[in-house]
Amino acid sequence: MPIPTEPVGSLPRPVKLQKAIEDYDAGKIKFEQLQAEQDDACRDSIKRREATGAPIISDGEQRASSFATYPLTDTLAGTGLADNLAADGQYFAVFADGHHRQLPRLTAGPFKYKTYAADYLEKSIKYASMPMKQAVIAPSMLALLYPLDDDVPDYPREKFLEDLCNECEKDIRKAFKAGAKRVSIDFTEGRLACRNDPDNPWTGRGMLEQFVELNNRVIDRFSPQERRNIGIHTCPGGDMDSTHSADVPYAKLLPSMFKMNAGYFLMQLASEKDKESVYKLVGEHSREDANGVAQVCFIGVINPQDPKVETPEQVCDDLMLASKYIPKERLGATDDCGFSPFSVDMKPKHGSPDVARDVAFKKITSRVKGAKMASDKLGLS
Ligand SMILES: [Zn+2]
Repeated sequence: MPIPTEPVGSLPRPVKLQKAIEDYDAGKIKFEQLQAEQDDACRDSIKRREATGAPIISDGEQRASSFATYPLTDTLAGTGLADNLAADGQYFAVFADGHHRQLPRLTAGPFKYKTYAADYLEKSIKYASMPMKQAVIAPSMLALLYPLDDDVPDYPREKFLEDLCNECEKDIRKAFKAGAKRVSIDFTEGRLACRNDPDNPWTGRGMLEQFVELNNRVIDRFSPQERRNIGIHTCPGGDMDSTHSADVPYAKLLPSMFKMNAGYFLMQLASEKDKESVYKLVGEHSREDANGVAQVCFIGVINPQDPKVETPEQVCDDLMLASKYIPKERLGATDDCGFSPFSVDMKPKHGSPDVARDVAFKKITSRVKGAKMASDKLGLS
């Protein structure tokens, strides 16, 4: 079997769609008009992803407000915010360029998703002729909706976590039922949890272990056969061509991260300074047997923050080097992150979201070609 290759999920929303989101937030257009723009963007994303030759694709998350808030709100500005939430929650990240992104705050129970990832997938899958994947948000990210120290009246934290785990499980099961071949769980808060940023109090609480346990509460509800197709994505964040935790050494994250009983991991690596040392750590800590499933390690070979397009040869070289440390039957290739995890993102280093889309498809083409080259060299084709 050739080296598997899979995207994380998102693509920049076209300028036209971002304008429609702005108009919708301003009350200038109706939801149906916004949805028509989202449909167009999904159709275009699928068509162009399929043209790259990729074996599995996504719709670019063109309908999602963001990778983390899609269950909670229709737009990032908070239009259509779900019940029992207020806009002023914790920062989930302060980025290196100084901007931040904020989560809503839970004000009352019970906690319920307003939108499941499958609600979007069901609409997109009819445009696709290739297998599709779906990304979902981790319970550990949405756990941050509950105030860090205070209690929500008549809704104890443990009751919330129980409801949260049920909703996350449902999100994954519905995605498979809607036709997703693979479901990956976005876990960007894992690396950030090791950062201890004084401007973002939760990051200084040593929460990584409890994040891992919470996610396993959901992952362990699936059979080994199902978990082969359930992945975890880790990255140092990606928004407006900036990151939030690239300075955290992987050695702090990986030993805990691989305790999650997922069947595969999509890991940022193209933009790491010392890739080889991380490949080594991945080889050491990933598990041949995670409660009945072998952990397949997809290394990032494409940097979505950088407009410079990687060549297939570079992708191949990265995979060849990684294969010295990671067993070749457990090696895969991915992008470091989604190309635009948040719906409103001007992609400043690229000049515009439309340019960034063109660049993204070239990069994906290189990933696919490079993975094929490395498969041939390793005798895996
Ligand atoms: Zn990411």
